[in-house]
Amino acid sequence: MKVALAGFLHETNTFAPDPADMAAFQAGGGYVPFVKGAGMFEALRSVNLGMSGALGVAAEKGWDTVPVLWAGAIPSALVTEQAFEQILGDIVEGIRAAGPLDGVFLDLHGAMVADHVDDGEGEIAARVRAVVGPDVPIAAALDLHGNISQAFVDTVDVLVGFRTYPHIDMADTGASAARLLDQLMRTGQRPAKAFRQMSYLVPIPFQSTDLSPARALYEGLETVEADGALTASLFMGFPAADIPDCGPCAIAFADTQEAADRAADAIAASYEAVESDFDNVTYQPDDAVAYARAAAGAGPIVIADTQDNPGAGGVSATTGMLRALVDANARSAAIGLIVDPETARQAHAAGQGATARFRIGGHAALPDILPVEVEAEVAFLSDGKMQATGPYYGGTHLDFGPSACLRIGGVSVVVTSRIAQMADREMFRFVGVEPEEQAILVVKSSTHFRADFTPIAREIIVAVAPGPMPFNPADLPFTRLREGLRLCPNGPAFKTARADPGTP
Ligand SMILES: [Zn+2]
Repeated sequence: MKVALAGFLHETNTFAPDPADMAAFQAGGGYVPFVKGAGMFEALRSVNLGMSGALGVAAEKGWDTVPVLWAGAIPSALVTEQAFEQILGDIVEGIRAAGPLDGVFLDLHGAMVADHVDDGEGEIAARVRAVVGPDVPIAAALDLHGNISQAFVDTVDVLVGFRTYPHIDMADTGASAARLLDQLMRTGQRPAKAFRQMSYLVPIPFQSTDLSPARALYEGLETVEADGALTASLFMGFPAADIPDCGPCAIAFADTQEAADRAADAIAASYEAVESDFDNVTYQPDDAVAYARAAAGAGPIVIADTQDNPGAGGVSATTGMLRALVDANARSAAIGLIVDPETARQAHAAGQGATARFRIGGHAALPDILPVEVEAEVAFLSDGKMQATGPYYGGTHLDFGPSACLRIGGVSVVVTSRIAQMADREMFRFVGVEPEEQAILVVKSSTHFRADFTPIAREIIVAVAPGPMPFNPADLPFTRLREGLRLCPNGPAFKTARADPGTP
């Protein structure tokens, strides 16, 4: 079986400040950096990504594998037209050059928007389909946050979405999709499919499958498959995307249309039934710190600084939580990552052990977010090269560039030159901060941190410090959603602006 494998992933926050250009895909930002051809085997084999699982199945099934390319950038604003066309152009050309194929495996996100294309994955699938023709099966692995379109579902032959958030099953999902592709190639089977979009958005931190009600919704997929679906997926959707296909959906594949419809209807109904159960609590920054300081017991209180989560378009440089820790004179507290290349450079210039004045944090695109101006000790310096060993990153090597731990009284600040989501305990440890020994840990993450921090946390709470990624989708200035979509559980419904006929 000759199979082409390609990956092109981006979660696009259409409200975020920084676009995803070629440099962003080359950096990776927590993903594996851009890699082409045979280099994919080494770069992707043993990490937690959809392509890793597919490469494992390719070896196990003895496929004649054609590795085309893999490109992923950290969530941010729109993918530039130049980057989209260059990467997709290379994918299409690589598939064309491979000659006749038995199948295509695509590792995608599901929520990519480009400057000139609303439905990134729909466009990728359409162009790949145009090259391979109608008969070659195309399988896709997708992120749980996909904002999936009918056009995309129509174009691929099978797809599988992640079932965990934190996404500890990325490689497993890629393996599932690859096994289904193998089945389709060998049998010639083309399953019936059903697609349902649901009626309300959920704030990112409360989509976690560690929490109720999402945990039970995802467990329910196994029941649906036992009842006759070949594979079934529930997508929570990525709310910060002002496009008509934003939001959750259910997708099922089965031998008959009736079975696929029944499965998708069951998933959609289960989602609609739990709307009132998404009723979790958030804290203002000062209240979060006060709560953490008052809480009794052993192990750190972990505070998710959700509105600056770079996994959803944050810059990982806002200062509301840092200021709250410093103002409260917190002890045994640590916060990370603050991405601030200039402060990192100054810390390296000052030297380990030095004390100096710094302006920590802030971002050019967010003029209302002021740096914290403060005297701090350079407690630790690093070149930024480290390996993230927790279950989310799964052994990925990251390079943050010049990095430091700055200490302000009892508050340790992890400062880096490059961005990735704080979702691994090693991302504190590489600058000398032992996370297990802290009383308070503030993480620039909404949910992925849970995979590595839940085992050591006394408790996890969610704070809403000022930042570029509003916690509540109802606070986003949407203009292009589909009519009637509720912006949060039991929240207001989106209405398109219409001319008022009563106005002269
Ligand atoms: Zn995701």
